Amino acid sequence: MRVTVVGCAGSFPSAESAASCYLLEAEGFRLVVDLGNGALGALQRYAGIGDVDAVCVSHLHADHCVDLGAYAVARHYGPDGNLPPIPVYAPEGAAGRLAPVFGLVAEELAGRFTFRPLAPGRREIGPFAVTTAHVNHPVETFGFRIEHDGWTVAYSADTGESGALVTLARDADLLLCEASFLDRPENKPNVHLSARQAGEHGAKAGVGELVLTHLVAWNDPEQSLAEAAEVFGGALSLAAPGRVFGSASLPRGATSRVPR
Ligand SMILES: [Zn+2]
Repeated sequence: MRVTVVGCAGSFPSAESAASCYLLEAEGFRLVVDLGNGALGALQRYAGIGDVDAVCVSHLHADHCVDLGAYAVARHYGPDGNLPPIPVYAPEGAAGRLAPVFGLVAEELAGRFTFRPLAPGRREIGPFAVTTAHVNHPVETFGFRIEHDGWTVAYSADTGESGALVTLARDADLLLCEASFLDRPENKPNVHLSARQAGEHGAKAGVGELVLTHLVAWNDPEQSLAEAAEVFGGALSLAAPGRVFGSASLPRGATSRVPR
């Protein structure tokens, strides 16, 4: 499996990054996880408009899903004609939420994607075994555990402190964990994690590598890294657009690289 960080900006796009989006590839199958603001543009660096086989959406906040509407436009009006629908695994109500933004009615958007409501549990999506569970965020939100050929990535989506996230990430090779906050007493509970809390979740789950993501533009990323490092002793780094992870055949610690 190859995991590419397409966008990792938290809450809104930054000057350097689109909002949340990750591309997972194995056996020629391309699965996009989240498609936040600006992500469709960045995604085209790694995959053509027609090259995506399925999409998973963690929750219906715009910074995780809004470019799905833009993607429907791109798939419908491209020079190759109206591309056939691909499955979109998303919380209930995704089509109704996104369609008006693009001047569509829900039925039109539903004709361009095959929406499959997410529920907690395990399913096969192409070559991937995908386990989902509710995490701790003000709207229905799913965290993910995605496995292929003995290699596992877990993705927190947006969450406050969550035992379900620890379970999803148990012994994963890689945890992409949101770290929206710095550690401050005024942080609202049950919305997002601080970088320190991300480190604590990674440590409890015993993950091989922790990558902090959903990085919000007004935080100092080096401070986020330092907070997490106080509680997580394994391989630790910051997400960045274009970073690639993967392949269980590589020794641990050599699983990631920063292109360019
Ligand atoms: Zn959110």
